[in-house]
Amino acid sequence: MPELPEAETVRRGLAEILAGTKIEGLEVFHPRTARYQNGGSAQLTQQLSGAHLDAVVRRGKFMWTLTSNGQALMMHLGMSGQFRPLAKQAGEAPVRHERARLYLSGGPAQSLSFIDQRTFGALYLSPTANTEDGAPAGCGSDSLLLPAGASHIARDLLDPHLDLVKVNQRIRKSKSPIKNVLLNQSIISGFGNIYADEALFVAGVHGARSASTLTRQQVAQILQAGIEIMERSLSRGGTSFDQLYVDVNGSAGTFADELLVYGRAGQACRECGHELSSISLNKRSHVYCANCQRPSRNLK
Ligand SMILES: [Zn+2]
Repeated sequence: MPELPEAETVRRGLAEILAGTKIEGLEVFHPRTARYQNGGSAQLTQQLSGAHLDAVVRRGKFMWTLTSNGQALMMHLGMSGQFRPLAKQAGEAPVRHERARLYLSGGPAQSLSFIDQRTFGALYLSPTANTEDGAPAGCGSDSLLLPAGASHIARDLLDPHLDLVKVNQRIRKSKSPIKNVLLNQSIISGFGNIYADEALFVAGVHGARSASTLTRQQVAQILQAGIEIMERSLSRGGTSFDQLYVDVNGSAGTFADELLVYGRAGQACRECGHELSSISLNKRSHVYCANCQRPSRNLK
């Protein structure tokens, strides 16, 4: 599932394709893709046709583009969503797993296909409101307009307007396992299973530890590790672990070969050689090194 580096890679590609264009038409091939839209596919098609698109913006894993009618077109990748400019004409049969198609003018692409094998992705229009903190809503634009569909999403680790001191305090107020807190997008956004496990390993913190037992310094180390890992992954186009994530050109990210723990349960820890373990936390796997990440390790 795409996390922050993958979503940002897609956003950069989409910005080149969509910003400044006009939507000439839209076809929805699978009703589930428009399930969050009031009025479903018919309303989405009607309201988007003729709309002009502004910048493509991202907060955490959430992406949207502001439209000329004051709304935001939300573009959820879900588990397997891909946007590809396949140069299709209206009426051409959908390709495999193609769920929707935008027809564009005024930009480099004549069409943009939304391909989504598992149909957890979605396209829908959301009203917008100014951000409460008066800072730009997300990465990609100076606009303060934040879609209602993303208003529950906290600022992410690569957002220059993120208040790291406040986030650190909020994290340590939770009694939940730290791994679960990192995945809570209303506290800090952008982490998914991959980068949460990687950041916890680098910081030497076991994911099952209650966040409230961690020191400010430990949480700061986790967040700093998250920033560095996500930036490095972004520079390599993200992680294409399950082959469902590709950028707008269809290219996979190459960060998977740098992963230290995610997907490596049973293999040797790259730090100490100990065999990596896996447990289930909130129904998701947590891969860790029992030697480098002791449940009650005190880093003070
Ligand atoms: Zn180790």
